[in-house]
Amino acid sequence: MVRYVYDFREGRREMADLLGGKGANLAEMTRLGLPVPPGFTVTTDACRAFLATGAEPPGMTVEVSRHLSAVEAGAGRRLGQRDDPLLLSVRSGARFSMPGMMETVLDIGLNDDSVLGLAKATGNDRFAWDSYRRLVQMFGATVMGVDPALFEEAMTLLKEAREAPDDLHLDANDLAWLVETYKRLIRDETGEEFPQSPAEQLRRAILAVFDSWNGERARLYRRREHIPDDLGTAVTVQRMVYGNLGADSGSGVAFTRDPATGRPGLYGDYLPNAQGEDVVAGIRNTVPLAELERFDPTSYAQLRDHMRTLETHYRDLCDIEFTIERGRLWMLQTRVGKRTAEAAFTIAAQLTDEGLITTNEALARVDGDGLARLMFPAFDTSAAGAALAHGIPASPGAAVGAAVFDSAEAVRRAAAGEKVVLVRQETTPDDLPGMIAAQAVLTSRGGKTSHAAVVARGMGKVCVCGAEELTVEERRFTTRGGVVIEEGTVISVDGSAGAVYPGAVPLADSAVMRFLERGGERSAGVVDTVARALEHADSVRRLEVRANADTPEDAARARRFGAQGIGLCRTEHMFLGERRKLVEEMILAGDDTERERALAALLPLQRADFTGILEAMDGLPVTIRLIDPPLHEFLPDRTELAVRVATAEQPDAHDVELLDAVNRMHEENPMLGLRGVRLGLVIPGLVAMQVRAVAEAVVARTRAGGSPEAEIMVPLVGAVEELRIERAEVERVLAEVSEESGVPVRCPVGTMIELPRAALTAGRIAEEAEFFSFGTNDLTQTTWGFSRDDVEAAFFSAYLDKGVFPASPFETLDRDGVGRLVRIAVDEGRATRPGLKIGVCGEHGGDPASVHFFHTARLDYVSCSPFRVPVARLEAGRAAL
Ligand code: PEP
Ligand code: MG
Repeated sequence: MVRYVYDFREGRREMADLLGGKGANLAEMTRLGLPVPPGFTVTTDACRAFLATGAEPPGMTVEVSRHLSAVEAGAGRRLGQRDDPLLLSVRSGARFSMPGMMETVLDIGLNDDSVLGLAKATGNDRFAWDSYRRLVQMFGATVMGVDPALFEEAMTLLKEAREAPDDLHLDANDLAWLVETYKRLIRDETGEEFPQSPAEQLRRAILAVFDSWNGERARLYRRREHIPDDLGTAVTVQRMVYGNLGADSGSGVAFTRDPATGRPGLYGDYLPNAQGEDVVAGIRNTVPLAELERFDPTSYAQLRDHMRTLETHYRDLCDIEFTIERGRLWMLQTRVGKRTAEAAFTIAAQLTDEGLITTNEALARVDGDGLARLMFPAFDTSAAGAALAHGIPASPGAAVGAAVFDSAEAVRRAAAGEKVVLVRQETTPDDLPGMIAAQAVLTSRGGKTSHAAVVARGMGKVCVCGAEELTVEERRFTTRGGVVIEEGTVISVDGSAGAVYPGAVPLADSAVMRFLERGGERSAGVVDTVARALEHADSVRRLEVRANADTPEDAARARRFGAQGIGLCRTEHMFLGERRKLVEEMILAGDDTERERALAALLPLQRADFTGILEAMDGLPVTIRLIDPPLHEFLPDRTELAVRVATAEQPDAHDVELLDAVNRMHEENPMLGLRGVRLGLVIPGLVAMQVRAVAEAVVARTRAGGSPEAEIMVPLVGAVEELRIERAEVERVLAEVSEESGVPVRCPVGTMIELPRAALTAGRIAEEAEFFSFGTNDLTQTTWGFSRDDVEAAFFSAYLDKGVFPASPFETLDRDGVGRLVRIAVDEGRATRPGLKIGVCGEHGGDPASVHFFHTARLDYVSCSPFRVPVARLEAGRAAL
């Protein structure tokens, strides 16, 4: 029999799939003996069953009642009891944290009777009516579907009538009046009464939280964070404790280390006389946690102890939410906290030094996306003017964009290609689309734990929050010095220093980039922690990392970044610029002599290119791919040329000849046409020229005392016969140059596997290939039948929305389809030729998730753009753990 409800005393941290992160961690804290208000968790199984059928699964209601009775017995009070009611909070809690994206209902159990009991029991009328007011409002909006703006409106009208600057100036009578108004609103809007039965309130609140899993906000957040849609949320039901019962009460959020920098020591925000929601919402400005020591040294000391217990137990940065109710500390939530990339590297190194985790665990806790972020440029502050304002550096990085003041405007402008900075007093979960669209988020209120800060950090987005010097209005903000920034004005946001500048501040390399570029020297701080992580990754990884590079400069940079060779040198890139003319002559050649003349002119140029690259990568393998794209790419545009010929009074003879060639070579589907190995087989002399250039470069480097290790790779092979013919030509030229020069030139000859047929006949192809390199760009294109040049812009966003795939298959390898072909080719290739060297040189070679796949698929190396090399090294290490 499936169980749907677990008391906090029954759960464990490892049960997050079933109890959600919140439920599992509340259970863990309860087991550790920390002061957690009692409660229970309704499982994600129940949620999934409810979402599938629209009804509570059988037995769930009975289980909830039974667990409620246990909580009531422990408290010595019943839910909604008239004279002294037990009240409950009902909160969402999925497997992965989705801050503020789902619903919460507080103060369940209040009704027209028990509100009087609560007033009496606490001796605080205003508090009781305010709590009831909050319940009716939250329940009305969340459970009964009333537009929240209607409640806000009623509140605003009342405040105006009372000339109250905020709701703290409304008294118990005002709030009682508001409760009646809200109830009437609910009745008018829904035709239903606000339910007075506490049991019904509880039941409906639980189901509303289940439903909120499929709310728009939650779905958008999941897509952005790649959280699967079918997990469902758990619901925690917990006894309410109150931080808003007076000066000896309050709520706070705390981290065991600074989540922005990783610096050790308690870090957090506290709001006296407030509920937890008020802290995260950034509604009032909080005080630093350290101040709590002054207000309430006993609670502060307890909090410090509990946090130490948690960090030692979880062996990681924890964040917590807590409430102090009349001098008594309660722990309301903990989890392993979200952090910036800098903090992730720093904390991993610190915990290793403190002996809490191993170097392998430290490596598992950082990732390539974080490293890529640390490689992004930072502002060159020496070139910036005076700052407009300073705030809290909540999420690091440098961003430039036009200031916009609401989420919809941010989305609109970003869709039109503009870079924007979303500026708000504080953000709410409704601002999520704008935050995703913006380069950075800037708020004038709220601390490092405010919604803006937490969400931006989770997304790796630049954020400065709590810039109190700014007055943010509907379409502009004003600095303390009176500078007005209107909507659309470009500003620069430095999330690392917490500063905002006018205009676009120029960018400079980040400290991590400077270190990686120089390839040696390292300072303390985050650079050192990155270096340590990379060293460890290098010591454990099995995959080698090469770079895709076509110039000596790129090759040299890739080498500094740690590349162990070149996995793809695209030789056609060397045919551009002024050399295009020579290529044109080769294509237009009327006979063998003319063609040979053109090829002979190209030869020394290619040889010089290869010599430079082999020198930059001396001693390391350099895979040189023979020409791949259709030749007409090197000829002028067909339409332009046709117009020129048609409109000229006396058409130029060369133009006419050219147009004729262009027309002859025109293809409707050039990507599937005369390219790759096919060119080598039909254009005489082309391959021979390229191979000769490679071989002569090898001779030159050998004579110069170098150790050139060129490899020759044939693209777009679909059948072993193609490779056999091409390879014979390659070997012939290599032998010729060896003979002429007296320097033996031995280059392994291999092939790209980038057509499904190549993968499916890899066993045969391996008879002729000394190595394989997966061209996953073309393999994805041809497996899916997706034109790689068109589909992403055309319809991928619709496909992502509809959940056809969670990420573009051109970015992250499609394991089920393309990955299957990869596995077949690896198995069959190595069956023919044991020990066959196999790599990948498509874009996926630098994508973290794909790198993990290539590790498990037993490839020997990944090859990616030079800037992705450090990322691939790190991920290859993580894949090997
Ligand atoms: C590939 O197809 O994955 C590849 C590396 O080749 P190109 O991108 O040059 O077609
Ligand atoms: Mg290709």
